[in-house]
Amino acid sequence: MVSYHWPRGLYLSMNSALIRHDWSLPELRAIHDMPVLDLVFQAAAVHRVNHDPLEMQVCKLISIKTGACPEDCAYCAQSSRYTTGVAPERLMEKEKVIEIAARAKASGVSRVCLGAAWREVKDNVQFDRVLDMVKDVTDMGMEVCCTLGMLTEDQARKLEHAGLHAYNHNVDSSAEFYETIITSRRYEDRLNTLQTVRKTSVTVCSGGIIGLGETVDDRMKMLQTLAQIRPHPESVPINILSKVPGTPLGENLDVPIWDVVRMIATARIVFPRSDIRLTAGRARLEETEQALCFLAGANSIFSSETEFMLTKAVPSPSYDADAELLKTLGLRMREPFKPRDTVVAA
Ligand code: SAM
Ligand code: SF4
Repeated sequence: MVSYHWPRGLYLSMNSALIRHDWSLPELRAIHDMPVLDLVFQAAAVHRVNHDPLEMQVCKLISIKTGACPEDCAYCAQSSRYTTGVAPERLMEKEKVIEIAARAKASGVSRVCLGAAWREVKDNVQFDRVLDMVKDVTDMGMEVCCTLGMLTEDQARKLEHAGLHAYNHNVDSSAEFYETIITSRRYEDRLNTLQTVRKTSVTVCSGGIIGLGETVDDRMKMLQTLAQIRPHPESVPINILSKVPGTPLGENLDVPIWDVVRMIATARIVFPRSDIRLTAGRARLEETEQALCFLAGANSIFSSETEFMLTKAVPSPSYDADAELLKTLGLRMREPFKPRDTVVAA
């Protein structure tokens, strides 16, 4: 049996990948700070033990309610607090969502993410319309994810009964750093919504953003917090800050590619069975940089039609460009609803 001894006694047997919920910060830093090619190698080994390395989940985010969000998230084009040029739009008609989803399906997309610029879900006719969208897009044979802000248990149950496959609710960074970029809600509010979703059969999608001005310790504390969720979030999106002019973070420095690779690889090792999603900011990466992230364990991306953005003001590569890239790399698009095998728990 091939085995690798990691710094500070971290040990990975190639024949099992440990699902842990108790990572310490020094352990996470030891992984993250490893020589980067060794880190990529270790992460690739974990990825291959747990996933088909030739498979990529391709998702499409539809901004079903754009702009005029009351929250003050310092990175977000949708916040009403900043002048970002994103014109507020009413809730999208279901027919238009179905049209976009059908084109996405024809392009190989297996998951449609319905995003709303809301602080939280309200029990009103708009939520009823979203439930209808969830049901109809699920009936098209696609996984549906929603990212609608904070949820009550009753609302989570309604999404579950509508057939929702996943709920995205990012924690974005460490608890300490979070309050420097968002003051209109608490980190605890985000964790509460994740716990609420965990009471249902809806899977959890939660990750964060790098490039906000956080430290590496903040990034590791975010992974540490997410790993405490039982079971682990089924998908962990790693966003690279897309700098939106007019927001407080619009002039931030670009994230060096090696920070991105280290974050993806560390997330892969911490969440062996989860999908690690290379999301916002991917449009800025060279194909070779994206390939290195895939080697390090990123196995899910967002793609889009040229005229649609990932979220307003946050660009996403097009279906055609991504199909070309996957073909070049010998990767195929994952089918929807692929079952997850059981794994050795710690
Ligand atoms: N309003 C809901 C919420 O905040 O959860 C859902 C919509 S919000 C656009 C979904 C996620 O996209 C955010 O939690 C954040 O992690 C990510 N995001 C938003 N703007 C971004 C940006 N400019 N760069 C990178 N990630 C961004
Ligand atoms: Fe609103 Fe979500 Fe953007 Fe924050 S991230 S401003 S909650 S849309």
